[in-house]
Amino acid sequence: MPDYQAPLRDIRFVMDELLDYPAHYAGLPGGEEASPDVVAAILEEGGRFAREVLLPLNQSGDQEGCLLEGGEVKAPKGFKEAYAQFVEGGWPSLAADPAHGGQGLPHSLAMVLNEMICSTNLAWGMYPGLSHGAADALRHHGTEEQQATYLTKLVEGTWTGTMCLTEPHCGTDLGLIKTRAVPTDDGAYDITGTKIFISAGEHDLAENIVHLVLAKLPDAPEGSRGISLFVVPKFLPDADGNPGERNGVVCGSLEHKMGIHGNATCVMNFDAAKGFLVGAPNKGLACMFTMMNAARIGVGIQGLGLTEASFQNALAYARDRLQMRALSGPKAPEKAADPIIVHPDVRRMLLTQKAFAEGGRMLVLYTAQMIDIVEHGTDAAEKERAETLLGLLTPIVKAFLTEVGFEATNEGVQVFGGHGFIQEWGMEQLVRDARITRLYEGTTGIQALDLLGRKVLMSQGESLKVFTKEIHKFCQAEEGSSELAEFVRPLAKLNAEWGEMTMAIGMKAMTDREEVGAASVDYLMYSGYVTLAYLFARAAKQARAALAEGTEEAAFYRAKLDTARFFYQRLLPRTRAHKGAIEAGAEPLMAISAEDFGLGFEI
Ligand SMILES: Cc1cc2nc3c(=O)[nH]c(=O)nc-3n(C[C@H](O)[C@H](O)[C@H](O)COP(=O)(O)OP(=O)(O)OC[C@H]3O[C@@H](n4cnc5c(N)ncnc54)[C@H](O)[C@@H]3O)c2cc1C
Repeated sequence: MPDYQAPLRDIRFVMDELLDYPAHYAGLPGGEEASPDVVAAILEEGGRFAREVLLPLNQSGDQEGCLLEGGEVKAPKGFKEAYAQFVEGGWPSLAADPAHGGQGLPHSLAMVLNEMICSTNLAWGMYPGLSHGAADALRHHGTEEQQATYLTKLVEGTWTGTMCLTEPHCGTDLGLIKTRAVPTDDGAYDITGTKIFISAGEHDLAENIVHLVLAKLPDAPEGSRGISLFVVPKFLPDADGNPGERNGVVCGSLEHKMGIHGNATCVMNFDAAKGFLVGAPNKGLACMFTMMNAARIGVGIQGLGLTEASFQNALAYARDRLQMRALSGPKAPEKAADPIIVHPDVRRMLLTQKAFAEGGRMLVLYTAQMIDIVEHGTDAAEKERAETLLGLLTPIVKAFLTEVGFEATNEGVQVFGGHGFIQEWGMEQLVRDARITRLYEGTTGIQALDLLGRKVLMSQGESLKVFTKEIHKFCQAEEGSSELAEFVRPLAKLNAEWGEMTMAIGMKAMTDREEVGAASVDYLMYSGYVTLAYLFARAAKQARAALAEGTEEAAFYRAKLDTARFFYQRLLPRTRAHKGAIEAGAEPLMAISAEDFGLGFEI
């Protein structure tokens, strides 16, 4: 069975040394509660919960899957009990507003815990995973009554939330949805339609499920302008706020899928189910975006968590497995062969995983600070800047970390050789589980369009400039440091190139809009590498400073420098390929007609 240890030392490095979280928390209203001692205790306990409670259920949950009987779904054995412990421990309410029963700790802290959950049991993590987003949508857009009825329950975790967008004929293009909402005399709505692929749509972990559903009013305008958001509980709350009458929403079937078997992916049939409008009529998509943005960051964290899990297990295996001798001569002459970690190619795979795990963690925690500031900040200018950066980084966190998460988990299988392909080691499960993260909450293609089209080009490059200016300032400040030159020089060049390339795409797009779609995924990956390069340069600076000062943990800081070097010398050159593809433009993609694609097998 795979093992896992919460990477607490690395988390401490990123939070305390790199991003100065103690000062960040001290500057947030109520942030003083998150003192370094409290944070350390919470993370340690979270790591213990993930390792001792969730990890043992990961493989059994994958093999057992979920069971649908008479409209009721049973999650795999042990999931319900683990969830009860989770609620009992107060984990769901950690970062929620005290006004709704939350503990008021910063959101970033919950994100670190989320990484641990995703490393140990992604399928389980998706039961509580959408409750936070559902609560957010209600907090921002719900009426006082809706908040009183649903928020406290979602925050304490006794009820869970879902996000019901997708229908059989539409996933990306939500303007096509057919689910109808017909007003009733009591001010509520009858919701009728079919939603598919609904994560945790039905299960036995919580006493009630709160569905947030997109549907169309009878007089709604066509397309995405005519979508409204409704809250539709599985059980209608009674006068005391407890689960009462069963509502007309049932699980029709469970999907059989490639991964996350322990999570119920449901077809949900709404048959005149009672729903209540959230926010203004026809403004549902905007309300749902509150949920989707939080969920997108959450999916990026899934990529990170799986990367870390795969890395830890591949590393242990590579130290243990004896095969062949090192090319330069035996490294363990007393043994029958050398451990495979001596071989350069195995090191390439392990370091790729390590760099993506440590780089991804820096990116998530950097972005988490923006979320804290947007949520709790008091300085208007600082909030505006954080909001811009958060908008820019959200598609990068979501798509880049899930793309490289899939690569990293695949490399984990490769390190195990044929054993990686065998179920009992648990490495192939990580690949299967990672595969969905590139799809749901908007595919990589859609995130890339969001980044390049909406966030960068629609702001005339202004949002990108906020970030590239920060990188430029860092490079300028470190220009004179010969020790950091190996990082700062290539970073400064790439940072300038990022802006120039964006302008060039913008110019081309003025004559041909297809240029945006043609460039977008390569642009997103390029952006991800440059963003991680910035964070690795800062990490290298920190590591050098610690080593210069003298430390008992010299090995930790040297390894950090080595990882940064590996990233710069072996992974960052991938930006050349992405740039080349971007510059090739739309022509090689659009030249062939849809009919001519299939000529090779027509005759
Ligand atoms: C296990 C699982 C859990 C899920 N959980 C939920 C959930 O809880 N709630 C929910 O509502 N949905 C959920 N989904 C649905 C998921 O969000 C969608 O599958 C996803 O958004 C893609 O939609 P689609 O499958 O309809 O693909 P399509 O929209 O048909 O896309 C097919 C392909 O075309 C590409 N494409 C589409 N439009 C464009 C464009 N304009 N430009 C470029 N490329 C484009 C896409 O990138 C993709 O590669 C889940 C799905 C799965 C498999």
